[in-house]
Amino acid sequence: MDSQHRAWAEINLGAFRRNLRRTRTQAGKAAVWPVLKANAYGHGAVAIARTCAEEGVERLGVGDSSEAMQLRYSGVELPLLVLGTVIDAEVPYLLEHGVEVGVHSESRVHALGNVAREHGKVLGVHLKVDTGMGRLGMRPEAVLRVARAISAEPALQLRGLMTHFASSQGTRDEFTDGQHALFLAAAAEVSNELGSRPTLHSANSAALFTGLDPVGDAVRPGITLFGIQPDNLGAEVGLETVLSLRTQIVFIKDIPAGTPVGYEGRWTSHLPKTRIATLPIGYNDGVPYRFGLSGNGQVLVRGQRCPLIGSVSMDYCSIDISHVTDASTGDVVTFIGQDGRESISACDVARVAGTIPYEITCRLGSRVKRCYHEDQVTIDAPDNLLKP
Ligand SMILES: *Cc1c(COP(=O)(O)O)cnc(C)c1O
Repeated sequence: MDSQHRAWAEINLGAFRRNLRRTRTQAGKAAVWPVLKANAYGHGAVAIARTCAEEGVERLGVGDSSEAMQLRYSGVELPLLVLGTVIDAEVPYLLEHGVEVGVHSESRVHALGNVAREHGKVLGVHLKVDTGMGRLGMRPEAVLRVARAISAEPALQLRGLMTHFASSQGTRDEFTDGQHALFLAAAAEVSNELGSRPTLHSANSAALFTGLDPVGDAVRPGITLFGIQPDNLGAEVGLETVLSLRTQIVFIKDIPAGTPVGYEGRWTSHLPKTRIATLPIGYNDGVPYRFGLSGNGQVLVRGQRCPLIGSVSMDYCSIDISHVTDASTGDVVTFIGQDGRESISACDVARVAGTIPYEITCRLGSRVKRCYHEDQVTIDAPDNLLKP
């Protein structure tokens, strides 16, 4: 793909499709409900949601009401579930567009029920049990009471029972087993009370790919659909990277020894001549401020690794290209992805920047042009972030 942009993300929907199919194989009989929060982990929620619809996905998870509305306004008709919570002012919109919500307390049941009744509509809800994440969700001992409240409220319909795992190790961490046991016990109680078993869903990527058993009726993977495999998942599971992050060289100059580069002069040249290049991408675009400071942050230019130097600015950063003799202005620079025989993953970037790979793609800024393709064939997909 050519460099018509300052900074761009090439997003391979073909790779996404294959990851989704691979995930379905892993999930067996359970349905796969892709989680597309945070603009589909930075990949662009609208294009990813449309791809999911083409692949016959039956439901999507989103992070909040605005994400659900963005998909609805873009013509995505799939069932949507706001995984977290909502605030009262949002509920009329969710009702109008048939968006389901997680419910984590009895008072929410009443509040949601009241609004739904006022609008003469039925709201689909998923009961959220806190089995150890300690965030949203009711304690297991309260589940039965809240389930009863939902079944007594005709304007609410129970569409699922869910929990969320805290460990990124999946079932390799005993804590997950404990959470799972609590969830299954709560599910048994609720089923007993209602006389039928609600749809059970608990697994995130880590739990699914470490073999959670039983895996439930549906699974909610996010990160692995994008081919990002948190380090600790280990085993090669055959997922493909979906996103490559690139920019281009906009300026090259030679500097003598002792020249400071960047804010606070946190890097200084020490050779008689260093050739540095300026890149039009900065922390506002998602390159972590600290990426260059340890000396281990790297990018690829003409298939060669080049170190970032100094602190990353809001709009720009600098690299040392002294060893890339033929580099010139306009050369493509790869932050994430492959160039020749070298490649850099979101996990590599996260490790150097001292964060998790999720944060690397989620933080890609709105100025980064999303360029969609199917295995190198450019397609006309919306760059939804640049629309008003
Ligand atoms: C983000 C999220 C997921 C997906 O997690 P991954 O680790 O990306 O697979 C699943 N369920 C809930 C409730 C979430 O918030």
